[in-house]
Amino acid sequence: MIGTTFSLREGLVRSGVPEVTPVRDVPVRVAPSWLLGVWRGDIAGMTLPRVVYLSPRSFEAALAGNAAELLAHEAAHVGQWRRLGIPGFIFRYLSDYLRGRMAGLPHATAYRAIGLEREARAEAAAAIGRDA
Ligand SMILES: [Zn+2]
Repeated sequence: MIGTTFSLREGLVRSGVPEVTPVRDVPVRVAPSWLLGVWRGDIAGMTLPRVVYLSPRSFEAALAGNAAELLAHEAAHVGQWRRLGIPGFIFRYLSDYLRGRMAGLPHATAYRAIGLEREARAEAAAAIGRDA
């Protein structure tokens, strides 16, 4: 099934979180190989303004209806892109990350500390009914 596309809303329904409604329905696709090449091994997905890219493994999980938290997380990012606009999202995301790095945090910690990531984790946790 690699290479197919489904809509984010359809994926959320299939994963059992139909109450999560993305502000904009976007296609969900397997990340292109050039992007997988630059991702670190632990990246499950990435949301751009008009598409959600998942790793092949996460895409298979989503097709099987086992990606509620991940898709709810990406749906939160869709809302952030919409709310902040492209320059606003990029500025906030990168400035948070760089602030963490300049404070001496390692990559993974600086990434987790990005405000937009914390917000997306909290929204996803709430969507699946557990604490962030
Ligand atoms: Zn995220």
